[in-house]
Amino acid sequence: MRYNLKISLLLAAIMAIATGYPQQESRPGCLITPDEMRAYTDEVRMQTDALKQADKLHFYPVERLDADSISIEKFLDLNYLGWPLRNANYSDFPGWAIGNFVDLDYYSDGDEDYFEDSETEDYECGHRTYDGHQGIDIGIHPYHWKAQDDGAVEVVAAASGVIVDKREGYYDEYCVWGGAANSRGNSIVILLDDTSTATFYMHMKDGSLTSKVEGDYVQKGEYLGTVASSGNSTGPHLHFQINYLYEDDPDGDFTGYNQDAMVGACNDGSYFAAFEEQPPYDDPAVLTLETHSSSPELYEDNCDKDIGLYYDNSFTGFATVYFRSKFRDWVDGSSITHWIYYPSGLVKTFYTRTNPTDNRTFFAPDQAVGFSPFDESGTYRYTVEMDGETYSHYFAYNCIASQTLSGARSGHGGNMVSFSINSTQTISGSSANYIQYMADEYVQLNPGFEAAAGCRFVANLKGCNNSTAFAETADATRQVAPESIFSELQLYPNPSMGMVNLYWPDAGMEQAALRVLNQRGEIVYQSNISSSDGLMATVLDLQDLAKGVYMIQLTGDQQTIVRQLVLQ
Ligand SMILES: [Zn+2]
Repeated sequence: MRYNLKISLLLAAIMAIATGYPQQESRPGCLITPDEMRAYTDEVRMQTDALKQADKLHFYPVERLDADSISIEKFLDLNYLGWPLRNANYSDFPGWAIGNFVDLDYYSDGDEDYFEDSETEDYECGHRTYDGHQGIDIGIHPYHWKAQDDGAVEVVAAASGVIVDKREGYYDEYCVWGGAANSRGNSIVILLDDTSTATFYMHMKDGSLTSKVEGDYVQKGEYLGTVASSGNSTGPHLHFQINYLYEDDPDGDFTGYNQDAMVGACNDGSYFAAFEEQPPYDDPAVLTLETHSSSPELYEDNCDKDIGLYYDNSFTGFATVYFRSKFRDWVDGSSITHWIYYPSGLVKTFYTRTNPTDNRTFFAPDQAVGFSPFDESGTYRYTVEMDGETYSHYFAYNCIASQTLSGARSGHGGNMVSFSINSTQTISGSSANYIQYMADEYVQLNPGFEAAAGCRFVANLKGCNNSTAFAETADATRQVAPESIFSELQLYPNPSMGMVNLYWPDAGMEQAALRVLNQRGEIVYQSNISSSDGLMATVLDLQDLAKGVYMIQLTGDQQTIVRQLVLQ
């Protein structure tokens, strides 16, 4: 064993070769001229007035406070801004990075020297903006065009209010300034419950916008669309902007004050435009850790939209694995060590990278590492620590077909199989415990399994073969009664044309809540199923659902079981 380990370390040393070059992606931006913005804001204000005339402008607020016994403090609390983006599917990595803030030196001179420091000022008195920019540009990562195609990053309402303007039908893959019929592109404006603060969400993907229309009320956190590059935009990003539409207006031509929601040394902020959790100015994070079977490509320029990535999570024989990482706000110039651990927890190899410049988003040079049959079989961990956070990506060498996991589990770790995981593990309630199960087909949590309050437990359908397009969390705190029986749940046929038999001979629970989730994690079907003499058997009619991959989730008696179902 020791001999084999030495050889593989030697092989690793020989084959540990850095490939490629560091790359900073150009930071996507957008241009909406002051005149255009004035016209837009005016339009929104007139539209708002029209909605009001038509009695279609109904806010949550004051008149409903009594009826819903909600305090004014709570009401105001609800109006603090949440973050306007979220990952569509579960991910260990944030899918975004801020490119440009609001330019508080807005009226400098308008001579179109957009990036002159003397003409810009952000909320921390820095220059991460350009002349006249009125919103926050948030780019998506790690591969923005791919993330746009996948709908990987969703735009959600930062605060509740009424949709007062919605535009769609515009081309959404602009990569240079100019050319768009309309600067804002596919966009939504929501007037908040204070009835005068408008929030603008621009550049979204055509066809992705919520089905709600002007006059409809949306809740904080509600889905609005996905991030893209429609309008006058140089790459996929969300432009999020806040304007006051109504203020004292002695001249009758008021068109709205622009607000910066970020509060700092150069901006005092305002109540109705404040984030409940404002991200720090420098917000270091790992944007991705990946393994590839061949040297992955990078975008060559703004308009390069297709790249070969050769993602792979499962390797055998003599293999060269390409490791790639990407970072956000790695600005202190420090070196970062990338660790690759054997399934046993020993270090297979490591390498360090240093950010050569003050890049905000940055692919570190890739690393090629050799694997051979001398290496351990099982799940490997590729780990980076940044800013006190540990980020990991799991991959398999000689993937194990199924795993039965038991005993106490702690620390930071994942288990991956090609087909299934059955677990009776116990994970104690320490925040240091972050346990991840990854399986292609299913994860089954058997009696005895326990993830105690305080730990972080995630079950992913994303195993050795990368066979599923999505991942679902069971971000759970659940305790399973040891005496209950939890035997095999069967779904057939699978894949199915829509009629699916659910058969569970020893269900061990009298009733279960059945939920069918789509790839977005949205519930598309639900019902309650009862057992008789321990047998649960029913036929699900899912013929109305679109073709695709779904998750069947059954919960009862504090137990949850998930299965993947393919409709074709
Ligand atoms: Zn912008």
